[in-house]
Amino acid sequence: MLGNLKPQAPDKILALMGEFKADPRQGKIDLGVGVYKDATGHTPIMRAVLDAEKRMLETETTKSYAGLAGEPEFQQAMGKLILGDLYKPETTAALATVGGTGAIRQALELARMANPDLRVFVSNPTWPNHVSIMNFMGVPVVEYRYFDAATRGVDFDGLKADISAAKKGDVVLLHGCCHNPTGANLTLEQWAEVATILEQTGATPLIDLAYQGFGDGLEEDAAGTRLIAARIPEVLIAASCSKNFGIYRERTGCLLALCTDKATKDLAQGAMAFLNRQTYSFPPFHGAKIVATILTDDALRADWMAELEAVRRGMLDLRQQLAAELRTLSGSDRFDFVASHRGMFSRLGATPEQVAKVKEEFAIYMVGDSRINIAGLNQATIPVLARAIIEAGV
Ligand code: PMP
Repeated sequence: MLGNLKPQAPDKILALMGEFKADPRQGKIDLGVGVYKDATGHTPIMRAVLDAEKRMLETETTKSYAGLAGEPEFQQAMGKLILGDLYKPETTAALATVGGTGAIRQALELARMANPDLRVFVSNPTWPNHVSIMNFMGVPVVEYRYFDAATRGVDFDGLKADISAAKKGDVVLLHGCCHNPTGANLTLEQWAEVATILEQTGATPLIDLAYQGFGDGLEEDAAGTRLIAARIPEVLIAASCSKNFGIYRERTGCLLALCTDKATKDLAQGAMAFLNRQTYSFPPFHGAKIVATILTDDALRADWMAELEAVRRGMLDLRQQLAAELRTLSGSDRFDFVASHRGMFSRLGATPEQVAKVKEEFAIYMVGDSRINIAGLNQATIPVLARAIIEAGV
């Protein structure tokens, strides 16, 4: 039976990681995988996470099963973190999931349970796993224009025209902040225009919030999501705790379904718990407990926010330094977009040949679409990357 399986194409980013490891060159630079790294190339455990884990070790008395939809304290803490004062537990269904990926998968399953003819509108480009999951599920994908290759900003006219074709029963997938892979984001005014189109079409937004706190700040990064939540009756939000709590391998995420009334919320909550039960039964507990412990304790929360803010500012500094270096080397402002992008990524807009040249001649690894991980840089490697970009003719 298993011999009938077809070989799967390897994940491009994971394959790039393997290639980087095997490269014997000294001074090679990895700007591929989407993980935060400090200046020494290490992905640290955040202080508040270690403190929360110590507390858990001292106080936990059982490893018996916990909530099928997650623990209420985690659900509520996430609801407040994402939505602030707009969080209404009585009309919001919530589910603890296996990372942000699990939240996206369960959101799509939920939408398809509600509408078997589901179509999902996704930005072009988007995080490749979005499309891969939808293809695997057999959910039709409709791309909307997003990246303006000339400005490396958002092609907002294209976006508006394309999402206007969505209908009631369709889902429009939006990146809440720190768009992956481009780094180009909507302004709040543009979010308001998107809300108007969603009102007109009746389509349901699914907001992927994987980098809250990595862009302009914890509150600022949730502003687009909150604007949509204030105006659109039903909203799905798939949040990841992997990046902003640095707990990638704990697989912690959360799906929120904002409903108009308690009866619909109960229906959604029941369906979401059912989806967990059918997929893996109880969701991972440990990471969700870390997050809830931090968010509900004033001291831990303050320390987490301070460390997250330092991470965010560090990435912004790297952006500004890279843009400045490129300005000097190119004698132009055409790379200033690097400084205005937000989050961990920027799409440089290089051709595949240029990306290959940078890898072969400078041992700098970026994703094939010329996405770089800003956090993979440091003071020493910024000038090396800048020179490589110019010499490759980007
Ligand atoms: N959405 C986006 C846009 C992402 O970049 C990622 C992580 N690469 C995820 C979701 C999923 O994150 P997680 O590791 O929590 O599953």
